Amino acid sequence: MSELKQTEPNQPKVNLLGLTRAELEQFFVEIGEKKFRSQQIMKWVHHFGVDNFDDMKNVGKELKAKLKNVAEIVAPRVTHFQESTDGTRKWVVQLDSKNSIETVFIPDGKRGTLCVSSQVGCALDCSFCSTGKQGFQRDLTVAEIIAQVWIAHRSFGTPENRGVRHITNVVMMGMGEPLLNFDNVVNAMELMKDDLGYGIAKKRLTLSTSGVVPKMYELYDKIDVALAVSLHAPNDALRDELVPVNKKYPLAELIKACRAYVDKFGDSRRVTIEYVLLEGVNDTFEHAYELIELLRPVPCKINLIPFNPFPHNPYKRPNGMRVRAFQEVLQKAGYVSPIRTTRGDDIDAACGQLVGLVEDRTKRSERWQATIESQVVEVRPAQNK
Ligand code: SAH
Ligand code: SF4
Repeated sequence: MSELKQTEPNQPKVNLLGLTRAELEQFFVEIGEKKFRSQQIMKWVHHFGVDNFDDMKNVGKELKAKLKNVAEIVAPRVTHFQESTDGTRKWVVQLDSKNSIETVFIPDGKRGTLCVSSQVGCALDCSFCSTGKQGFQRDLTVAEIIAQVWIAHRSFGTPENRGVRHITNVVMMGMGEPLLNFDNVVNAMELMKDDLGYGIAKKRLTLSTSGVVPKMYELYDKIDVALAVSLHAPNDALRDELVPVNKKYPLAELIKACRAYVDKFGDSRRVTIEYVLLEGVNDTFEHAYELIELLRPVPCKINLIPFNPFPHNPYKRPNGMRVRAFQEVLQKAGYVSPIRTTRGDDIDAACGQLVGLVEDRTKRSERWQATIESQVVEVRPAQNK
């Protein structure tokens, strides 16, 4: 492909940001260069956050000129950046004239977790999720997914003063259902794991799914990462209501797929079960006992997430006592079940608040637009963050 590009200047340039190591090597072979050269370029792009070939100090003049002809390094524009009083950072990233997404960084002691989006909106319409209320707009490209890590990585300083690794964990828990943008998410996660990319350990790279069962099996065959499953209900009747994809892939199938994940990799790994607590809906003792029974076949820990409210939503966050009572039942049954504390509240960066500003395309989106607009907070413009 690229030989062509050298002779035809009007060919679109290849965005190197979105290429995995194997794809970049292939690209270099195609432009008549040695494979190993691609390693230098990967380091410049992902380790040092460089987006200009001229800044690549150990790359020769001729290669630079050649690359400028056929390639580019382009990340989408950050339109807003905010930092919360608790250190949480949020970026609003403009993908195109109609679509923006949000990326959030959450520091916690030595750990720094980046929450990455995979789609604009989401088609799965879980009843308690503000992203679902937008409807689905479009998938992110590999470059758009990895750019979120690239942008966050760059925001911690220039290559010269960056001695500390700030992003230690990545969770695919931003906007969208990652398994419905399968190939792009897998390639982006390859880059996150790659030593020449971001070197995120497989245990620290988590894909969260609401339970698209066939894609879960496909995932296990393609890449080894940590798995989180958004369960939220201990029986099919309730889960059909809260997580509609359950009607297609009911709990028996989902639990089997979780067990298959643990068996496939054979080490002492566990699935992370996510359970959003909705007052009076799924947070009683009966629900807790039912959950314990359901999860018997699956080695797991259970993250309890008190619901993050947004306007015009029927649900309420249960009070602290109720949450702790639910937790106690699980703990007595031997489960590690931390309560996920809300972070970045002052910048709307908490779970379920990743609304973004999207094109108003669907009926559902129209219905929720007023809600979303009333939530937009004062933000300061991005300054190279
Ligand atoms: N689509 C994937 C990943 C994105 S959602 C999934 O559903 O797993 C990331 C997590 O945030 C999920 O566990 C989701 O259920 C949770 N979440 C969504 N809305 C929420 C809300 N209003 N309050 C608390 N958690 C919420
Ligand atoms: Fe989509 Fe996940 Fe929100 Fe459900 S919880 S609507 S799957 S983003």
